[in-house]
Amino acid sequence: MPEGDSVWRAAAQLHSALAGQQLLSSDFRVPRFATLKLDGWTVTEVVPRGKHLLMRLQGPSQEQLTIHSHLKMEGAWQVYPPGGRWRKPGFTARCVLRTAAADAVGFSLGILEVVKTADEDSIVGHLGPDLLGPDWDADEAQRRVLTHPEVPIGVALLDQRNLAGIGNVYRCEVCFLSRIHPAAPVSAAADLPALLADAKQLLEANIGSARRTTVMSPLGKPAGRSGGRPGYWVYGREHQPCLRCGTPIRRGVLGNGFQVRNGATEERDIYFCPSCQTDPAAS
Ligand SMILES: [Zn+2]
Repeated sequence: MPEGDSVWRAAAQLHSALAGQQLLSSDFRVPRFATLKLDGWTVTEVVPRGKHLLMRLQGPSQEQLTIHSHLKMEGAWQVYPPGGRWRKPGFTARCVLRTAAADAVGFSLGILEVVKTADEDSIVGHLGPDLLGPDWDADEAQRRVLTHPEVPIGVALLDQRNLAGIGNVYRCEVCFLSRIHPAAPVSAAADLPALLADAKQLLEANIGSARRTTVMSPLGKPAGRSGGRPGYWVYGREHQPCLRCGTPIRRGVLGNGFQVRNGATEERDIYFCPSCQTDPAAS
């Protein structure tokens, strides 16, 4: 699933392709906006906010709208030369925007809606500080995480109301780097500021390249054993040796019984090293 870094990259790509361009046509392939036409509107900017994409447009009479999308599990935006052949099936397209310079197509978008730009807060106002945003506020993120000290740290990191940008991959990797078991309560985190700083550095290190979290090793943390393909410390590495201590990585599920504050339960795979990461059940 997309995390803050991939949304950041998608926004950067869309911004460079579309900002300043006038739409020749727009096609929203969702019932609610099927009749909406934004022909003649100009894309002013495309910005990421946590895992949300905000494409801002200005109309002929200076009115302002925002195309809000969320990639959820399968979504993707792709940019093509005008009239270029799509790399994904046409029936999965949800939004098609054409300009003289490029076509932008949103496929399988989890959310697609158009709102007044002035109303963006109704969409993203609940988000905690954005790890990749210009307004990142570590103290505020920490304050929010600590409001529920009994919640597993792996759940708190995914809750976008605490801080925005972390998905399942990074929550596992960040917990590994801080040597805390993802199911351990927030209150068990020995150094929450350092953990949040690691999360930010992890996302920042990955916004310019393919995702890879072992780039974190220069951060004064053990580089671990070499060998194997570069990639993740623990995510997706069940049964493979821990890169730090050699113990086989384990997979579990986190979220069962823990209600995330927006009402949804998050239940996803976690990966961890049973040796490097303190298991709260064992202590
Ligand atoms: Zn280990």
